[in-house]
Amino acid sequence: MPELPEVETVRRGLAPSMEGAVLKELELRRNDLRFPFPADFARHVAGRGIRSLSRRAKYLLIDLDDGKTIVAHLGMSGSFRVEAGAVADTAGTFHHPRSKDEKHDHVIFHLAGAGGDARVIYNDPRRFGFMDIVPRVDMASHPFFRDLGPEPTGNELGADYLAKRFAGKAQLLKSALLDQKNIAGLGNIYVCEALWRSHLSPLRAAGTLVTDAGKPTEALQGLVVAIREVIADAIAAGGSSLRDHIQADGSLGYFQHSFSVYDREAQPCSTPGCGGTVSRIVQAGRSSFYCAACQS
Ligand SMILES: [Zn+2]
Repeated sequence: MPELPEVETVRRGLAPSMEGAVLKELELRRNDLRFPFPADFARHVAGRGIRSLSRRAKYLLIDLDDGKTIVAHLGMSGSFRVEAGAVADTAGTFHHPRSKDEKHDHVIFHLAGAGGDARVIYNDPRRFGFMDIVPRVDMASHPFFRDLGPEPTGNELGADYLAKRFAGKAQLLKSALLDQKNIAGLGNIYVCEALWRSHLSPLRAAGTLVTDAGKPTEALQGLVVAIREVIADAIAAGGSSLRDHIQADGSLGYFQHSFSVYDREAQPCSTPGCGGTVSRIVQAGRSSFYCAACQS
């Protein structure tokens, strides 16, 4: 499943082709993905200008010049690629390879931009992705967005904020960090990485990171820094792979993120001097990878 850094990398990869372009035609090759497309979707957006491409949690937001926003979610297996002239790009970088099989090309954005015509193609073999259209002014109160916590990328996510959310909670730290009401868009991989980096066990109770006075402990302050760092590092890695890719032959070599602890069961822990071994346990149906020797 694409995580936030991958969606952000997709956004950065698509922006040069989409921002400022006119959406001449939205070609829908089926009636639905995970959900049916909104009524008259293609007719509503035809001929609109694209103002900007942004992101909230794992949603891509395509702002149109009539105050409406196309909301796109990649689900489990969705990807976009750009075809302009002879060059074809798959925007973004993924831990698992993306499909380029044309039978899974479900939505095509036909664009006219300053650099000429382009096609942005949405491919999704498993069809867990979806698209909708939402008036920009209703965005904050929309069911997709209204319960989302702050982004894990910026100053909005602070230790004081998390202390308020975690105070008195017996909930496991792993689950508390995956709760989208606490932090938006943080997924399993980056929770594992942030916990490893801050030497905290996924089995710890969230409330143990808050003092009796309701303040964040030093450990919680370290965790917030670790969350921001793992996300920023992954976005930077995705960005550099995009650049390498554009400088190369135009066809994306699928980039493999290198993780410190995720998907490394039974391998030596890479914390300097630790000597422990990475374990995998299952919590709420999701794998947690951690080192019992240096995470407590
Ligand atoms: Zn360790």
